[in-house]
Amino acid sequence: MSKFTSVLINRISPYAPGEQLRERKYIKLNTNENPYYTSPEAVKIINESTLKNLNRYSDPECTELTKTIADYYGVESGNVLVTNGSDEAIAFAFYAYGQCGLQYPDVTYGFYDVLAQLFDLNVKHVPLNDDFTVDIKKYENCGKTVVLANPNAQTGIELNKSSVESLIKNNSDNVVIFDQAYVDFGNFNAVELIKKYKNLLVINTFSKSRSLAGARVGFVVADSALIDDLKKVKNSFHPYNVNSVSSALAAQALKDDEYFHITVNKIKKTRDKLAEELKLLHCSVLPSAANFLMVKSAALGGSDLYSKLKDNGILVRHFSDSRINDYVRISIGTDEETVILVDRLKKILMENGNESFGN
Ligand SMILES: *Cc1c(COP(=O)(O)O)cnc(C)c1O
Repeated sequence: MSKFTSVLINRISPYAPGEQLRERKYIKLNTNENPYYTSPEAVKIINESTLKNLNRYSDPECTELTKTIADYYGVESGNVLVTNGSDEAIAFAFYAYGQCGLQYPDVTYGFYDVLAQLFDLNVKHVPLNDDFTVDIKKYENCGKTVVLANPNAQTGIELNKSSVESLIKNNSDNVVIFDQAYVDFGNFNAVELIKKYKNLLVINTFSKSRSLAGARVGFVVADSALIDDLKKVKNSFHPYNVNSVSSALAAQALKDDEYFHITVNKIKKTRDKLAEELKLLHCSVLPSAANFLMVKSAALGGSDLYSKLKDNGILVRHFSDSRINDYVRISIGTDEETVILVDRLKKILMENGNESFGN
C-alpha cells in the first residue's frame, strides 16, 4: 500500500475472485459461469449500428432493457432497476438499507462481508443448520435487513416458496433481500411476490443462467418505492452504470427464451447426473438447485482435492471457511467436460484412497 491511503481503506479486505486464468489449458469449473455461449440472437445485436453510438453516453435509465425485463416478469418498469452486474445491486441495497444492521447466514456469498466492511455496517451471521439449510425462524422479525441468497451460494440449497413467503411476512418492518443469482436452476422465483410485499427486494443477474458474465448486467425487481431508493444511490454513485452494448445484449438474450430454456435444462440435467456419479465415487454432495455442486470426498480433504484436480487440468473452487473447507465447489460444465472430470476424479481417488469403484 502507498503512504497516501485514507484510514477508510486500511480496514477493508477486498473480495478474492476465483482464478481467471487466461490460458485455455484448464477445464474451468470454478466460478459458476455458464459453459454455453451467449445466445446467438443476442450476439447478432452487436453490429455496426450498436457500436456507432458509442460516442454517446448510454441511456441512464436503461429504458429498453428495463421494459424488456418488466414485460418478461409481468411487472411495471417502475419495479425494475438495471445494474452493472448484480454485485452493484447488492452494493446499492446495502448502502440504502444497511444502517440498521444486516443479518445473513455464516455460509453464503463472500462478497456480502466485503461490502459490509466497506460501508462499515454491522452484521449478524446466523449459523446454517448442520445440514446447511437455513433456519428461517431465526430471521423472523429480527430488526435487521435480511439478506439471503436463494439458492444459497456455496451450498446450492434452495428455500421453498412457503419459507420464503413466511420470512418476508414476518419481517414487515425490515427489507428482505433475496439474491437470486442461481434462481433459474432452481424451482421458485420470488419475483412473483413483489406485488404483495412492499419490503421484498429481489436481485437477479444475467451472469449465470443467461451466459453473460462478461457483460456485467444485473437487475433488481421490487416495489417502486424501494426501486426509487436504489435509484437515489445509483445516481449518486454512477448514473451511467450500464454500458449501451451490454444492455442491448441483455435485452436480446432475454427475448431468446428458447435458447435460455435449452441451455438451462441441459445444465440441470448434467448437474443431476453428475451428482449421482459422484455418489458412486463415495463423495457426498449437497442437494443443489444451482449450477454447481458442493462435493466432499471420503478419501481426500477439500484443499487436497482442489490441488489434485488442478494438477490434472481441472479448476474448481475451494473455500477455507472452516464449515465448508472439506468441500470443493464444482461448477457445472458441458457434458464433455463432465465426462473428463469424472474420469480424472476417479483416477485421483483411486490413487489416494486405495479405493476401487467396481467397474
Ligand atoms: C455470481 C453471484 C453474484 C454476482 O453476480 P454478477 O451479476 O456477476 O455481479 C451475486 N450473488 C451471488 C450469490 C452470486 O453467486
